Amino acid sequence: MSKPVTIRDVKVILTAPEGINLVIVKIETSEPGLYGLGCATFTQRYLMVKVAIEDYLRDFLIGKDVANIEDIWQSCMVNSYWRNGPALNNALSGVDMALWDIAGKRAGMPVYDLLGGKTREAAAIYRHADGKSVGEVEENVRKFMEQGLLYIRCQMGGYGGRIHEIQTPKGALPGAYFDPNAYMRDTVRLFEHMRSKVGNEIELLHDVHERLAPIEAVRLSKNLEPYRLFFLEDALAPESVDWFRIMRAQSATPIAMGELFTHPQEWLPLITERLIDFIRCHISTIGGITPAKKLAHLCEAFGIRTAWHGPGDVSPVGHAANLHLDLSSANFGVQEWWGPTEIIYEMFPGTPELRQGYIYPSDKPGLGIDIDEALAAKYPCDNTQSIRPTGWTTARTPDGGSWRP
Ligand code: MG
Repeated sequence: MSKPVTIRDVKVILTAPEGINLVIVKIETSEPGLYGLGCATFTQRYLMVKVAIEDYLRDFLIGKDVANIEDIWQSCMVNSYWRNGPALNNALSGVDMALWDIAGKRAGMPVYDLLGGKTREAAAIYRHADGKSVGEVEENVRKFMEQGLLYIRCQMGGYGGRIHEIQTPKGALPGAYFDPNAYMRDTVRLFEHMRSKVGNEIELLHDVHERLAPIEAVRLSKNLEPYRLFFLEDALAPESVDWFRIMRAQSATPIAMGELFTHPQEWLPLITERLIDFIRCHISTIGGITPAKKLAHLCEAFGIRTAWHGPGDVSPVGHAANLHLDLSSANFGVQEWWGPTEIIYEMFPGTPELRQGYIYPSDKPGLGIDIDEALAAKYPCDNTQSIRPTGWTTARTPDGGSWRP
């Protein structure tokens, strides 16, 4: 038997090419020139992930056989005893994806082939159309339609809707204010407009981003029913998922859930009770490709499709991992896509490419993506980015109360 290839070093690369903090893990091996990349991006607390990898996982991993992805995943998960939090899960994801990347490179095969092979040639994506008025949203939807997009998410005035005149108490604290009632009215009006103007050939989606009280979310889901959404995204906060039973009983609007999930107990009941239609976890935040593939298989048995989270705070390495899962999953639904700028393709050669509504992977072995580390170093992360008192995560209702973002 040949000598095993082992982990020689584990490095963390921090970069913000588009102003969003990204965390990339690079695993170097005992075989010269053989390395893997993984996404460990927890953009709001990226330094915690760096510490988790450099000061804890690195020494635990050095010398281990790179072939033992499952055992490394299981043992890293419980090495801290306490587990399933976003910082540790992201750290583990960086390691897990890098090991899948290495496995593919050793086999000379793309990761989707290791995961069972392609079920389709490319993944249909959706992008986010916004605007200050229904007309402006319509204009942006039409621009995407001209580019060949088949799925478009419509929002008006960002998450939580346009800021109307709101009456706040004197001395109300700073924050990202929104008005739930105005948001609900505007959203129904928006979809009424879209269906009457752009018709039924295009798939439309909407993201509530947890900005409603549970009963309001139920009502919105009912009121949107006539406009045949492809799905309604994150209608409830993870703390309120029991309400999906009530939403399900009242409305046939398809439900997509899960970008904030970190613990298997959050998704298990929703799947086994068939309370959602799409699972849309943030792959790095649940621990990487290994748990995501298992989750996709579980969902398949219950008729639930995948729609993995794919915003700008997933690194291009994470987007590549999403795509390998999409292509190899029989129950793939749709993939969120952020529209990378030029710098991304320069810094991350092999980033998936969008053509006429579908993204295509590079055909290189592994995840098929690389990083220009010298270029990455020219775009440092900014640790003040996530702690501004008026940032979008400091959501507030009109009376100044703190709300789930
Ligand atoms: Mg979302």
